[in-house]
Amino acid sequence: MVSMKRLLSALLAAALLFSLTACGTQTAEAAKEKQNNGPVVVATLFPAYDFARAITGERCTVTLLVPPGAESHSYEPTPRDLLRIENCDLLIANGGESEEWLETLLDGTARGFSALYMLDCVDALEEEEKEGMQDLHEEDDEGGIEYDEHVWTSPRNAVTICRAICGELCVIDPDGAAHYRQNCDDYCAELEKLDAAFRDIVAQGRLDCLIFADRFPIRYFVEEYGLDYYAAFPGCADDAEPSARTVAFLIDRVRDHAVPAVFTIEYSNGKMADVICEETGCEKLLFHSCHTLSADDLARGETYLSLMWANTESVREALG
Ligand SMILES: [Zn+2]
Repeated sequence: MVSMKRLLSALLAAALLFSLTACGTQTAEAAKEKQNNGPVVVATLFPAYDFARAITGERCTVTLLVPPGAESHSYEPTPRDLLRIENCDLLIANGGESEEWLETLLDGTARGFSALYMLDCVDALEEEEKEGMQDLHEEDDEGGIEYDEHVWTSPRNAVTICRAICGELCVIDPDGAAHYRQNCDDYCAELEKLDAAFRDIVAQGRLDCLIFADRFPIRYFVEEYGLDYYAAFPGCADDAEPSARTVAFLIDRVRDHAVPAVFTIEYSNGKMADVICEETGCEKLLFHSCHTLSADDLARGETYLSLMWANTESVREALG
């Protein structure tokens, strides 16, 4: 495994060197991406990218590294990614299991930039094996503690992460501190409204349990609002085939609690939910974890806030 990583690093370095000596346009390209004289921020995932652009406004160039629609759990970086990171002032990453590629990529690079990991900003929760959940025996299961990496799904965590990003920016670019703080305050006020809306919805709901006929990337969310849950699988990587037993278990839970709706997540084929809906007459709803946006989502101007507000409607419906 280690030698594979070394090999990957070496290949990337070689590819990068080649592309630089070949024409030297990569640096020019990186310079072109810089839209102003403020710090350059690179975020690996959409939530961090979205928080950073809200806080920096026009003052900084903020780049999203993992492209829209890419499978962020098994991302394969390019030489261009390394170049972008090496030329940035602040790297905001997740720090979770599925970002091992980042550590591999950074192995041996001169780190002339600050790095902030979202997982380090909050109280990390371990991935949970919940009753009825199907164990997928993933290859990356090395027996150590696996933290759930979807920390941003709790709006309160989002506030904490934004404050940390703001703090880093104020250190890197003290002249912009007042600007960053103002933007951060305004944005966090929006996050507080979102948080209050979820609290209201949960308080008024007949039920206190969400059922995911899918992967389950919102452990931090349910923990925040004191909700219970059932789900087919942990995490939120690509589609997995559910066993008949898993489907039957979830159907029983829907019937037991007279649950009006079950959830799927973004990029899911939704087939399991279809089966459960057909069997029980409940509805299929989307909870967008905001982990990865499609190119269409981005082009439409979707944000963490817009997607989470859409989630408030789904959660309201599902809690009856
Ligand atoms: Zn995920």
